[in-house]
Amino acid sequence: MVVTGRFAPSPTGALHLGNLRTALLAWLFARSERGRFLVRMEDLDAVVSRREFEEWQLSDLLAIGLDWDGAVVRQSERRGLYEDALTTLIDAGLTYPCYCTRKEILAAASAPHGDVAAYPGTCRSLSTIQQRRLEQGGRRPALRLRSDGSVITVEDLRCGPVVAVLDDVVLRRNDGVPSYNLAVVVDDGAQGVNQVVRGDDLLSSTPRQVGLARLLGIAPPRYAHVPLVLGPSGQRLAKRDGAVTLADQLAGGVGPERVLARLGASIGLCTIDEAVSGEVLLERFRPESLPLAPWTWSARDDG
Ligand code: GLU
Repeated sequence: MVVTGRFAPSPTGALHLGNLRTALLAWLFARSERGRFLVRMEDLDAVVSRREFEEWQLSDLLAIGLDWDGAVVRQSERRGLYEDALTTLIDAGLTYPCYCTRKEILAAASAPHGDVAAYPGTCRSLSTIQQRRLEQGGRRPALRLRSDGSVITVEDLRCGPVVAVLDDVVLRRNDGVPSYNLAVVVDDGAQGVNQVVRGDDLLSSTPRQVGLARLLGIAPPRYAHVPLVLGPSGQRLAKRDGAVTLADQLAGGVGPERVLARLGASIGLCTIDEAVSGEVLLERFRPESLPLAPWTWSARDDG
C-alpha cells in the first residue's frame, strides 16, 4: 500500500519554526517510504482563517524545499463531506444535541473528582420537551457523539500506546461548523491518508479520532506524534520568543537553507551550518532515531 502522509495547518497566521519542523518531519516520514504527501488547509474557522495566510504558509513550505502532491485541499470547501458523515452518525442514533455553554461545561467538569477533559453528559438524556424549551429560550445546540464509553488504544509510532475512553466528543459546534475532530477524521479517510505525523499536543485527541473513524467505517491511519518546539522560556514556541517565522529569519539575514539546516540539526540530521537540501535530509532520515525530547529553540544560535 502506498504511504500517504499529510501536513494540515490552520491558515490563521504565519507558520513558526515549530510548525515548519513538524511539516519537515511529516514530509520526511512520507517521502522516506516513497509515499505521497498532501497539504490540507484546516480553515473551517472563518473568523480567524485567511487566504493570505494560506499563501504565505505554502510559500514558506516551498522555500525550505518541501513539496506536495496534487492540489491543496481546503476544509471550507468540503462541508458536504462532513455533513454526510454527520448524517451517518445521526441515522445510527449515535448523536445528541447539547445545549450547554462553555461556562456550564467548565463548571460541571470542575466539580470534585470531575474529569476536566470529559463532558459530564448533562444533555445526554434530555426529553424532546426539554430540548424544545431550551431552543425556545434561544439556545442553539452543538451535536455530540453518544459514546458507548469504549476504551480505545492507539499504538503511536513515537510515543507508544495511548489509551483513553471514547468521550462524547463535539461533532458539530453550535454555530453549525463541523468540529476539528470530525473534519480531520473524515478528511484523512477521504484523502486516503494512512500516516499522520503531527505535534504531540494532539496525542490526547488521537484515541477519540480513532474511535470516530471506526464508527464511520474509516480505517484509522498510523500515527507518529513528534515533540513540540519550545521557546527559551520552556513554553511552547510562540511569537513572543522573537524571530520565529521564516520571514523574521529572512529579515535577519538568515536564508531558507540555513533555516532548513537548523531544523535538520534539531532532528540530528545535520549541523546548523551545513549546506543541506530537503533531499539530503531525506537520505539521512531514520524515523527510529528521531530524538524524543522537545527541541528548545533559542535565537542565540542564529548568529
Ligand atoms: N490543523 C491542526 C493544527 O494546525 C493540525 C491537525 C492535525 O494535524 O491533525 O494544529
